[in-house]
Amino acid sequence: MARLIIISNRLPFSVDHDGDQVSIRQSSGGLVSAIKSYFESDAAKNSNITEKIWMGVADFSREDFDREVVPKLDKYDFTALPIFIDKALYKDYYNGFSNSTLWPLFHYFPSVVEYHSHYFEAYSKVNSLFAETLLPILQPDDVIWIHDYQLMLLPGMLRARAPKATIGFFLHIPFPSYEIFRTLPTDWKMNLLRGLMGADLVGFHTYDYVEHFVQSVRMVLGADNSFRSIQYQNRLVKADLFPIGIDYKKFSNAGNEPEVQELRAEVQKNFEGKKIIFSVDRLDYTKGLMDRLIGFEYFLNQHPEWQERVVFMLNVVPSRDDIIAYTRRKRTIEEKVSSINGKFSSISWQPVIYRYMHLPFNELAALYQSADVALITPLRDGMNLVAKEYVASTVNQRGVLILSELAGAASELNEALLVNPTDVQDVSNAIARALAMPIPEQKQRMALMQKRLIDYDVIRWVNDFLDQLSNVKTEQNKQQTKLL
Ligand code: UDP
Repeated sequence: MARLIIISNRLPFSVDHDGDQVSIRQSSGGLVSAIKSYFESDAAKNSNITEKIWMGVADFSREDFDREVVPKLDKYDFTALPIFIDKALYKDYYNGFSNSTLWPLFHYFPSVVEYHSHYFEAYSKVNSLFAETLLPILQPDDVIWIHDYQLMLLPGMLRARAPKATIGFFLHIPFPSYEIFRTLPTDWKMNLLRGLMGADLVGFHTYDYVEHFVQSVRMVLGADNSFRSIQYQNRLVKADLFPIGIDYKKFSNAGNEPEVQELRAEVQKNFEGKKIIFSVDRLDYTKGLMDRLIGFEYFLNQHPEWQERVVFMLNVVPSRDDIIAYTRRKRTIEEKVSSINGKFSSISWQPVIYRYMHLPFNELAALYQSADVALITPLRDGMNLVAKEYVASTVNQRGVLILSELAGAASELNEALLVNPTDVQDVSNAIARALAMPIPEQKQRMALMQKRLIDYDVIRWVNDFLDQLSNVKTEQNKQQTKLL
């Protein structure tokens, strides 16, 4: 019997005020849907988990929490453990060290990285606030699962005060090669790795990220590994790969929803006789939106026979718009969209349909189903769930996925047309090939990818991680017994 404590930067819901009306809104995003699907699954019901706790920063006040959130939490099936953080401190920790230092560095954008000691201090402070909030309520059988780059110091902080705790950590972004990681100041990189080594199990999306991590641990901390098992300070720590899956049924069954069917019919009517290339990404420099537009423009120039017969639906989701590296980008992307449309449009055709907004699930599902081609070409991406969701959504396995070889998902989705996102010729050739791909080939490729996604869905991902975490504890106990 154990309690499962999920820890992420934010709690998975926010509180909306509309006059006197207060409501709770569940957040979107990969981790939230993954854990939610698991909580609702038979796997969770049949496990030995007795209680679920979710800990994270609250984007509401303590008063809202006591008065509004607590009474409504029952339906969420977990106990929320909120952390209230002063705005200025949160900014330096989140916009600062997390998103202006770690995010760009770990996605191979060293020129964007900001190095400020007060950012790192804020990051340490917030990680220690998490530790201080959790430690007083921690019980010996608790299973703690910490998520992502905002909380890399936390496993070590907890381990120092609770040596026997069961702690898993999962990194949802790439772990970069040692040559990139080593550019961090010595003190920071040692602390980050010591922090992670406080966990019993450290999980990554791909084999490469695991290899990069164990190499950094060897070079920075001098701790060697054998088959991803590391002996560190007389304790076994394992690093392993767990490529996150999606809630497959949610996407493959979405077509049964009347609203999705209606939206799909509307798209088909509006773009009758034209092929649809679709993409959806947060506005983030890692997503390669500019290169994608340049690739599409190059394609239109190289393949005039497709003019008037294809539209590129580019959906950009607002993200981190209080960080300068993000706001500038919006303008340049919009200028590029205008310039392509200005150059190629006719009275009856506009090549790029651009929208800047968050799409609700039904609309996203309808667009996945309507797309003849999904063009997903990030410059770097830890995994990329959109690629997997598209594969799960295709109707009768018709559709072609063009995917960047630099997305984590590329190591699983080999039947996609893999491209180098900065190579315009490569992207243009892939678009031409995708648009002309015979239906039997589309189906064959989709079927293979779908099978892999069905076999390793998000519930399997959670189960595998938790099983492996429990195995590491058993192995540690065996080692201890041998030593006695
Ligand atoms: N998403 C969404 N609405 C949108 C765009 C994206 O709900 O308008 C979801 C999408 O379904 C996916 C997630 O946001 O689950 C994006 O995850 P991904 O790994 O592709 O990229 P990230 O944003 O995490 O870097």
